[in-house]
Amino acid sequence: MNLRDFKLRLRLPILIILAIASISSVAVYAQQAIDEESTRLIREYTTSEKFLSPLVDHLPDSDEVPSPREVLGYVVGTPEKLTYYEDIIRYMKTLSDKSSAVELFPIGPTDEGRTLYIVVISDPQTINDLEHYKNLTAALADPRRTPEAEAQKIIAQAKPMYWITCNLHSSENGSAEMSMELAYRLAVSEEPLIKAIRQNCIVMLTPCAEPDGHDRYTDWYYRYTKGITDEEERFPGPPYWGKYVYHDNNRDGLQVSQLITRAFLQAFMEWHPQVWHDLHESIALLYVSTGTGPYYPTFDPIVMSEWQLLSHWEVEELTKMGMPGVWTHAFFTGWYPGYLSFLANTHNAIGRFYETFGNGGATTMERKLADRERGRLGATKQEWYRPLPPDDKVTWSIRNNINYQQTALLCVLKLVASQKDTFLYNFWKKGENAIEKGKSEPPYAWVIPADQRHPVETVNVINLLQKQGVEVHRLDKEFKLEEKSYPAGSFVIRMDQPYRVCAKTYLEVQKYPADAGRSYDDVGWTIGYLRGVETVRIDEPSILEAPMTLLKEELRATGTVVGGKARRYYAIPHQGTNNMMTARFLLPPLQVFAVEEEFQAGERVFPPGSWLIPADDKGEEQLSKLRIIARELGLTIYAINEEVEVNKHAMDLPRIAVYHTWSNTQDSGWVRYTFDAYKIPYTLISKDRLRLGGLKGDFDVIVFPSQGGYGDARRVVHGVDPEKGPMPYTRTEGFKFHGVIDSTEDMTGGMGLEGLLNLQRFVQEGGVLITLGSASTVPLSFGLVGNIGISREGRGGAQGEEALFVPGSIIKGEVVSDKSPITYGYQKGFPIFYRHSFLFSVPKKEERFIVVKYADTDDLCLSGLVKGAKAIKGKAAVVDYPVGNGRIVMFNFNPLHRFMTQGDFMLVFNILINYNHLGS
Ligand SMILES: [Zn+2]
Repeated sequence: MNLRDFKLRLRLPILIILAIASISSVAVYAQQAIDEESTRLIREYTTSEKFLSPLVDHLPDSDEVPSPREVLGYVVGTPEKLTYYEDIIRYMKTLSDKSSAVELFPIGPTDEGRTLYIVVISDPQTINDLEHYKNLTAALADPRRTPEAEAQKIIAQAKPMYWITCNLHSSENGSAEMSMELAYRLAVSEEPLIKAIRQNCIVMLTPCAEPDGHDRYTDWYYRYTKGITDEEERFPGPPYWGKYVYHDNNRDGLQVSQLITRAFLQAFMEWHPQVWHDLHESIALLYVSTGTGPYYPTFDPIVMSEWQLLSHWEVEELTKMGMPGVWTHAFFTGWYPGYLSFLANTHNAIGRFYETFGNGGATTMERKLADRERGRLGATKQEWYRPLPPDDKVTWSIRNNINYQQTALLCVLKLVASQKDTFLYNFWKKGENAIEKGKSEPPYAWVIPADQRHPVETVNVINLLQKQGVEVHRLDKEFKLEEKSYPAGSFVIRMDQPYRVCAKTYLEVQKYPADAGRSYDDVGWTIGYLRGVETVRIDEPSILEAPMTLLKEELRATGTVVGGKARRYYAIPHQGTNNMMTARFLLPPLQVFAVEEEFQAGERVFPPGSWLIPADDKGEEQLSKLRIIARELGLTIYAINEEVEVNKHAMDLPRIAVYHTWSNTQDSGWVRYTFDAYKIPYTLISKDRLRLGGLKGDFDVIVFPSQGGYGDARRVVHGVDPEKGPMPYTRTEGFKFHGVIDSTEDMTGGMGLEGLLNLQRFVQEGGVLITLGSASTVPLSFGLVGNIGISREGRGGAQGEEALFVPGSIIKGEVVSDKSPITYGYQKGFPIFYRHSFLFSVPKKEERFIVVKYADTDDLCLSGLVKGAKAIKGKAAVVDYPVGNGRIVMFNFNPLHRFMTQGDFMLVFNILINYNHLGS
């Protein structure tokens, strides 16, 4: 049929259309009634028939199972209607109660106590026997216990599981609405396509992947943006999505730090789905992920071609239906593996996503597409990867968005249902490839030696790998390789295991191609460097023969008090163990001193920054408290019986504030998460508190988190445009999900010059201001730090061979001043995570304030990519500048980046606990 015929057909009455669409099933269709009212409304809310497809232009009726409209009172995709999470789940529960094709599984809590779910849809017999099907995919996940012949038998009975996660990003909420209609349609429709999906697949659907943010956003929509119909007038959503992280909830797949990520990973490991499909909304009209490359080379080649197969199928199917603007390829790279659904790509499944076109709510508006460029690519140009481009201007509704998502999902499910054995086999085959590669090509393993400078972080790394399903062994006896030997008890991560890709991705050094151009996200993440843990790549196959035992459970870091009850001091050597922070806030009322130089007690050398806790007259009580602290936090504490002759200072407990702006809460969220993880007490403050002044009365240290990108000091200081104000973010009767994390009567306007002067006064009176990453542009641009300024060389956009280009890499840092408490616990050279940032310009006579610099070498990159090293090598990384009685400590990188950079955390922690003894 040609396109014109197809569109004409859309105008015909629904039953006739369906009959034409598939002659062979007329009888079946005729039997199933159509929900006339929902069908009428779906068509009404779609702004043009080309944004509708025969798959979703009607809704089947069911006597037993209520449609979303019957439960909610409106059809999915009704203009100006968003559904709160409670109601979405109420609908899903009703559906599962009434339909034998649907079952609901809770998979974990959110930070604010909501429950995450997977809605499973398949034919009733399959739903009755899900445990059996889970066992089948689990068997396919491990080819060592399921050789090929066995796998073929299992594949014949198994059904591919296709997991769709919706609305991870709170402003991208069309998919949460869509999920209800899709679930209903999949459960009740008797159309052959849907029956085939039910029969051959197990559809897993998470209606909302970040429910806390969903409700906050829904409140925001009703409070502020519902009435906005001009796309130029649109403004960003609420200041917070999840409790801690905003958009970065899709950048937690490597750290697995957030509750929702943990729940998803656990569910993934329990079900072993073959596809994980995450729904996003940003660009027009439907982008299907493949990416431009470079793909991360460790991913199995099969998955790289599966991405193509699936996406080209969707492009073709929707194009065939006359739906414009469906494309792939020219957006996104496919290198960074930390996106949520990319957990599938590191575990032999397929991780993919859509970007459909959302309005950030349910208001219909005219959207201009022609100038919506990403890089050099227009959304309306015909290209090989976009065969049917959309018009320059569209009137766009949430219903259109839902039609695209739902149609495309039904198409891809159709493909998976019809090729079920292929997808199951590929899943098994990728596991087998992993094992075979691990046996036949280097690296054969990584060894993590037992004796580490950072034993607690070593345990964290081992536990993280295990959480990812990676098997970790311990050497039964010493393993020798050339000159080196690894003692019994050292950890071995063998590469001949099913999740080799996952293990290798964490452990290896990344080499982002220098000619690849911009990347979509970080390009280097080698875990040994980031966390200060020694890992050794073993290219010698004999490691696989070494006697070793599989670890069966989570490890615990163990600590102890060596030497029993002390007569004079208890000493904790400072080697940069982050858990010392937790200890510091648990120790009061005990006094703690930091030594300012190295000292020796018996055989042991204690480096600068080590702690001395005077033994008190209560003896046993103090010892037992220290024993608990040592055990719980994995610290080793030494009893010292003689006086120690060494310069030292008392470490006073700081009163800490974390500042956040209302325009960028992403990195302040990670700072809060980091502080909470180590139980560091702080007060969260915003512009209102800065403007009030008198800061030194309440705080000793103010942490000013990175504001993203290169920073724009003026924008950071002046904040959200006051013309939009006043804009309360408060909890009210009508908006009960606002006013949490922080609240204000008016989000607009920043700290202003008034707040900035108060910050300056705070420092002059003896306070310490810590500015991280781009937040450092504020003191630099407003002249709070003498003649230290911003170098133009570090700015982005510079072209040519020599231009600095570091798209999120691990580079060599170096301690300049070992007298500064900021570098306590660090060795001379250590890794720093650096991503596109400004560079300091430090006049010669101010160079004495540089505490940390980048190594003065062209060979600066440890992992990722550094281009134009000349611009950054030998330059300042941390500057500790005296202002009046206080200090401003500026970082030009973000040492608290996404809870990934544990090796850099202590640079900040040291400032907190030595705040009134900085300088050197
Ligand atoms: Zn998104």
